[in-house]
Formats: sequence, C-alpha cells, structure tokens
Amino acid sequence: MVEIENVHKFFGDLHVLKGTSLSVEPGEVCAILGPSGSGKSTLLRCVNVLEEIQAGSITVDGQLMGFRKDESGKLHELTTKQLAAQRTNIGMVFQRFNLFPHMTALENVMEAPVQVKELSKEDASSKAKELLERVGLSDRSDHYPAQLSGGQQQRVAIARALAMEPDVMLFDEPTSALDPELVGEVLSVMKDLAESGITMMVVTHEMGFAREVADHVVFMDDGFIVEQGKPADVFDHPTSERTKDFLAKVL
Ligand code: ATP
Ligand code: MG
Repeated sequence: MVEIENVHKFFGDLHVLKGTSLSVEPGEVCAILGPSGSGKSTLLRCVNVLEEIQAGSITVDGQLMGFRKDESGKLHELTTKQLAAQRTNIGMVFQRFNLFPHMTALENVMEAPVQVKELSKEDASSKAKELLERVGLSDRSDHYPAQLSGGQQQRVAIARALAMEPDVMLFDEPTSALDPELVGEVLSVMKDLAESGITMMVVTHEMGFAREVADHVVFMDDGFIVEQGKPADVFDHPTSERTKDFLAKVL
C-alpha cells in the first residue's frame, strides 16, 4: 500500500504540494483528478522518487521511499543503486510512451528483467511474451515502436512496467496523447489490471474510467487534496465548490 503523509514539494520558490496526505490500500485503484498545474504529476513522481520531497514521508509496502533508517533511527538518503532497487516495486506509465525506439516490443519488455533482475534471456523472453499476450499484442512482439500505433505503444509500455512485477503501478495520463479511437484499448487493459488486484494510482481526465474502475477518487487543486472519496460520492455529491466547478467543466 501507498502512504503519503504531509508531503511538501517545492520547485525553487514554487510550493507545489502543500501538505498532501493520501492512503491507497492494497489492490485499490485511486484516480487523481484536478486542473492543470494542481500537482498531480508531481505527486506521482514523488511516489517513486523521480522528485525529492522537502517535508513529509512516502512509504510503499512499508518501505520509506528514498531513505533508509540506520540502527539509531537516523535517516540517510539512498544511493542511486539502492534507489533503483526500491523502485523496482513501482511501475510507471507516462503520457508519452517512452519506449526504447531501437528495440522491438518484445525487447522493450525484456530489458529491465534482464538488466536489473538478471533474468536469463530465455526466461525474460517467455515472461515478456505472456505479458504482451495479456495486453493483446502477441502478434506485434517483433515490431519496433515506430511500427506500432500510439495505443499499441502504450500497451507495450504497460507490459514493460509489469515485467518487473511491481506491487504498485503509477499512470500519468496514459491516454492523453492518444487519438480518441485508441483510448479504449488502453483503458481496457488498465481495467483488466485493476481487476487483477494490483494497486494503482492513475492521474486521468477520463471521468468514465475514474467513475467505473476507481475505488477511490481524489480531487487536487493548487497543491491540496480538496476532496476524496468513493467515485459515486465525489462525482454525484461533491462538497467543495472547486470540485463542483471542475466537474461542471469536464463532465
Ligand atoms: P497537468 O494536468 O497539466 O499535467 P499537473 O497537475 O500534473 O498538471 P504538475 O505537472 O504536477 O501539474 O505541476 C504542478 C506545478 O509545478 C506547475 O505549476 C508546474 O509548472 C510546476 N512544475 C512541475 N514540474 C516542475 C519542474 N521540474 N520545475 C519547476 N516547476 C515545475
Ligand atoms: Mg501532469
């Protein structure tokens, strides 16, 4: 599970996360909504320490992210290598698919298990084939990213993140860069994943997905979590004016 406690994040003088607290239970799908610039991406990036935080703490499955405690309880920043090991438990999928352009779909999915987990090529390849099948791309495993549609590339990116067998998956607007007709195939893979019981945090503008698939919806505005709860409560009975305004614009 993910426990975010009183996190503050600054970019220089800009105070982006202003004491954010959020719990995501094991197996839960948490959808994060909110206007542009409210801090949604920053919050996700803090979870896997792509950004440092200036105050507060984030733990994933009981592990404090970015730090280790010594015998006396003093905190030390993790080394790059320790951080990489900690991050293997968290998969991330971005708006832009960020596949390795010179590798086939299969090679993209195999890369981290071979390099980081030191899996044999045979084992990594058979695992990668299973994952590509799971995202509906068995017949595309030898294609390079440039030979795949945006929706297919994003599904490869999801398979690649799953290849490390993370407990938590972070999605930052995974369908925002896609042509409208390709959005459904990616959401469908994410819905299957949600049903498989993996913990997910999803920044999205897909209100249908948030309402239908999420267990927990969070509305952020200006660095604060303004409102959170079950989808039916947040969508049908928002209590904050800012949530009401936002939903009136996007629904
Ligand atoms: P969007 O819906 O547009 O993706 P967001 O809610 O994801 O928005 P963030 O990307 O988290 O918003 O940005 C929050 C604020 O932090 C914005 O004001 C943004 O300009 C600023 N910001 C984000 N990344 C950086 C950075 N690396 N350096 C400086 N400022 C940043
Ligand atoms: Mg963003």
